[in-house]
Amino acid sequence: MTEPSSKAEIPSDLSAWWMPFTANRQFKGAPRLLVSAKDMHYTSHDGRQILDGSAGLWCVNAGHCREPIVKAIQEQAATLDFGPAFQMGHPKAFEAASRIAALAPGDLDHVFFSNSGSEAVDTALKIAIAYHRARGDAGRTRLIGRERGYHGVGFGGISVGGLSNNRRSFGPLLPGVDHLPHTHDPKNAFSKGQPKHGEELADGLERIVATHDASTIAAVIVEPIAGSTGVLIPPVGYLQRLRSLCDKHGILLIFDEVITGFGRLGAPFAASYFGVQPDMITAAKGLTSGTVPMGATIVRKGVHDTFMQGPAAAIELFHGYTYSAHPLACAAALATLDVYRDEGLFENAKKLSPAWEEAVHGLRGAPNVVDLRNLGLVAGVELAPRDGAPGARGYEVFVRCYQEGLLVRVTGDIIALSPPLIVNQAQITEMFGILRRAIDSVS
Ligand code: PMP
Repeated sequence: MTEPSSKAEIPSDLSAWWMPFTANRQFKGAPRLLVSAKDMHYTSHDGRQILDGSAGLWCVNAGHCREPIVKAIQEQAATLDFGPAFQMGHPKAFEAASRIAALAPGDLDHVFFSNSGSEAVDTALKIAIAYHRARGDAGRTRLIGRERGYHGVGFGGISVGGLSNNRRSFGPLLPGVDHLPHTHDPKNAFSKGQPKHGEELADGLERIVATHDASTIAAVIVEPIAGSTGVLIPPVGYLQRLRSLCDKHGILLIFDEVITGFGRLGAPFAASYFGVQPDMITAAKGLTSGTVPMGATIVRKGVHDTFMQGPAAAIELFHGYTYSAHPLACAAALATLDVYRDEGLFENAKKLSPAWEEAVHGLRGAPNVVDLRNLGLVAGVELAPRDGAPGARGYEVFVRCYQEGLLVRVTGDIIALSPPLIVNQAQITEMFGILRRAIDSVS
């Protein structure tokens, strides 16, 4: 394998790339460029080692540039670079689907491939509506999301999502969407693991049912842990209650596990961790450890089989992407799943989670820290907003961490951490040491 490069020039023209979810003008004044990566570290353009506290964007669960994954992608690129997935297939697509289905709980045993979390979500929402129609229940078209939910950036995802910044510039969005209340309650501040209060927030679904009638509702979609809006851990009993309300009213339950899937909580999926069986799981990110874009919508047998009852020659679902089950993505997924299994990385996450919890809550008492939340190997560190400048303190902590050699994710004034699952105790200690100094320095 080639040696990672240690330094790089900043390109002379930074103007053409309109960067996503970025303050472009601010960034281009002081760019942060990453030029290579290995295991737990990035190398920045100025040659510094940056400890990856966020698994890139919550995705590099196996660690960076892992040899078996790199080799599998290289070999695949040289063998079958592309194959259509419409009325055609290739062996690794079927193999990857079987492997994912085997990891998913219960009878979640069919997999529809896409290229991102956003596409996995839109696929799930479309399957939900089409499923009811296929059962002769075409009136069930309403979709229920949740305040502070993030489900990607497609029109479906931003409609069920609960982040006004992501919605307000884009017109009326999908009709027939409602939102459950979010589960963040200041009473739960500094809870370790799952917070105690808030199971009854699931009853928000009863209020929506009372307004619109269950016969109009297709599906509820929630992230088991709301990640991008600040790591909101579900209260004890909440997901179970949501499941039983969905059952009572014939509503499908979708878990968006784009972040929680593939070991983040020390189990293959949050559904397995919490012991709650959804009707669909959406996944991406950790599926290929971030190496090649890939999304997956994992569907329960009964939902899938409902589509399989017409004439065998008929296309059952008019949906798909040119790059569904892309050979490079399938090769990357298979190699990634091998690494997870062979190195016991989900078990490593589970084993380290008590130490992680202790490190997270070691920040209690740091200046302006108003809440600390953790589960598995994920954490949210909430800072008090600076007067009149929400988000400024969080952004400064993020920049300071980067300067000091730690990559974290910032959302407003909340710092999110989700390291690769190969992390060790010493790196956890280092991570929270840098974060503590950064918080101190911007206070
Ligand atoms: N759902 C969830 C829960 C996510 O966290 C994300 C991305 N952070 C998405 C969907 C969208 O994924 P992508 O950016 O790959 O489209």
